[in-house]
Amino acid sequence: MNKELLKGLVEQINLELQSAYIYFGMASYLEESGFAGFSHWMKVQVKEEVSHAMRIYDFLQERGEHIEMLPFEKVDVDYDSVLDVWEKSLVHEKFITASIDKLANLAFDLKDFSAMGMLQWFVDEQVEEEDHFGGAVAQLQMAEGKGSTMLMLDREFGRREG
Ligand code: MG
Repeated sequence: MNKELLKGLVEQINLELQSAYIYFGMASYLEESGFAGFSHWMKVQVKEEVSHAMRIYDFLQERGEHIEMLPFEKVDVDYDSVLDVWEKSLVHEKFITASIDKLANLAFDLKDFSAMGMLQWFVDEQVEEEDHFGGAVAQLQMAEGKGSTMLMLDREFGRREG
């Protein structure tokens, strides 16, 4: 595999796991704020991010590539509100989308068709993720932090499966 593409995919594994770590921090903040349902939603997301990392890992293993394990950055668990958590998570997902698009573009330029196929799954997944996170932001904005509405949303988010 092209060296630059391999480096980018190895970095993407790290980014997906770093995402899991960021969402773990968010889950912790939400749990400590007394919102078991919101926290549950984030913990489901943590598992999803690990599965994203695993998908790239499996692909690189199948291609017989060596995977370097990169370090993680410290995560600050410093949020103002539940809405603040989801606004920041949406910004983070947009950053991930840009990273995936860059890799898909590189695989396309290199005519690496199997990498393109693998990355197309991520391109589609990111559309879903931004819709998912954006929808949560819209619901939380409508709630405007009102106690009864927040408790209702907490219960609803707590039903997320996966
Ligand atoms: Mg992801």
